[in-house]
Amino acid sequence: MIHSGPREKCGVVGIALDDRAASRPLYYALYALQHRGQESAGIVTHDGFQQYDHVEMGLVGDAFDEADLDGLNGSVGIGHVRYPTAGSVDSSCAQPFSVSFKSGSLGLSHNGNLVNADEVRDALGAQGHAFTSDGDTEVIAHDLARNLLDGDLVRAVRRTMDRIHGSYALTIVHDDTVVGVRDPEGNRPLCIGKLPDGYVLASESAAIDTLDGELVRDVRPGELVVLDPDGSGYETYQLVERDRTAHCFFEHVYFARPDSVIDEKLVYETRRDLGRALWEESGVDTDVVMPVPDSGRAFATGYAEASQEAGADVEFAEGLMKNRYVGRTFIMPTQDARERAVRLKLNPIRSTVEGRTVTLIDDSIVRGTTSNQLVDLLRDAGAEEVHLRIGAPPIAAPCYMGIDMATRDELIAANQDVEDITDAVGADSLAYLSVDAIADALDESRADLCLGCVTGEYPYDIDDEATDRDVTRPSVDTPLADD
Ligand code: AMP
Repeated sequence: MIHSGPREKCGVVGIALDDRAASRPLYYALYALQHRGQESAGIVTHDGFQQYDHVEMGLVGDAFDEADLDGLNGSVGIGHVRYPTAGSVDSSCAQPFSVSFKSGSLGLSHNGNLVNADEVRDALGAQGHAFTSDGDTEVIAHDLARNLLDGDLVRAVRRTMDRIHGSYALTIVHDDTVVGVRDPEGNRPLCIGKLPDGYVLASESAAIDTLDGELVRDVRPGELVVLDPDGSGYETYQLVERDRTAHCFFEHVYFARPDSVIDEKLVYETRRDLGRALWEESGVDTDVVMPVPDSGRAFATGYAEASQEAGADVEFAEGLMKNRYVGRTFIMPTQDARERAVRLKLNPIRSTVEGRTVTLIDDSIVRGTTSNQLVDLLRDAGAEEVHLRIGAPPIAAPCYMGIDMATRDELIAANQDVEDITDAVGADSLAYLSVDAIADALDESRADLCLGCVTGEYPYDIDDEATDRDVTRPSVDTPLADD
């Protein structure tokens, strides 16, 4: 059974410094990763004697005050921001997850989603482990704690990796050692950075930049990185090897910051290239090209550049202004409130729209609510035509790997073809980007990407879903072979 609890779409960080408290650098790094999760924020540190933690619901800026940061002793630690999942605001799933056990303490931050968490939880439950949440992170923490009882850290992580199946980028603090692990398919991102006085592991390189550090490289799929507790270096262990990766393309399209480098690609450049490809595949001549702020901006830049190079007489203009203070906490219990939210969030600039034909560019359509309302908004502001261009293929299937997308019923492209969607959102024309354009822009073969949400074929073995490769889940009941 696929784990039905909250999907962990999150940001993780881990730091080891020479002779300085890790709490503030962790706090700044979490700020840089805030876009990856706004529901809760937490830090766990270790000072060589004991573990300290502070985990709160809410944004990073609200979750910690000076006293909280001062109380987080030690020059090593990890942090986490958690994404809000529809309908569940549950502090039991806030992270990092901490456990104390016979041979020490453990803090764990997880980004991703296991597809066999329920099986592992049941097996651990049968051995006497009691769980306080329905999240899969606690499952990993308990399994790792169990393996640490009779093995060193590297061996324990290896054994846990043999047992869990799905996507995970983890940062872990075990006593005063910080490690990072990326799942064998490299589905979720994780990178290594060098700081003036230490090392950092983070979901995105933008967090390293914030600390005046330098990106060293991505953590390899299936690799464990162990930071030296004094911040002087790190060791790596290739614990699991697969012949294919399953990098999530949606990180590049929507989720990650444009100023981050993921798997050696600057996200902004990728989005610009995708915008150029969008023009090449489905360019339409209009007076103005306009992004949906902020998600469509890099795509619209590339699209406008390519169209101008092709000789189109088109203006790139901002026609929608965003109120940046409308956060995700805006309560939207009714359709009226949802529509009000779009009006509060985005307001057209009449003079760039009135009497003109418009190409409106966004990264993706999920439910279709945003596109529908923006097309209406632009028409009300006097646009003569509104053509919609989308920098991703139709999102037609759910994500089981950690991106909180929507259920199949809610996905407009799961149930309708492009013609129907064009009518539903009220656009004069609508075109999506092809899957091949995504693979080209990322310089990867389709086989090395996770394209589950657009193809309905997943790189993992998920009940009732098709898979695009030969996978079998590890059996959680089989005694583990000694290595
Ligand atoms: P929708 O209104 O449901 O069609 O959502 C599309 C809009 O939401 C686009 O502007 C996207 O940038 C944004 N979006 C895409 N994926 C997600 C996601 N997983 N979580 C939140 N917003 C998203």
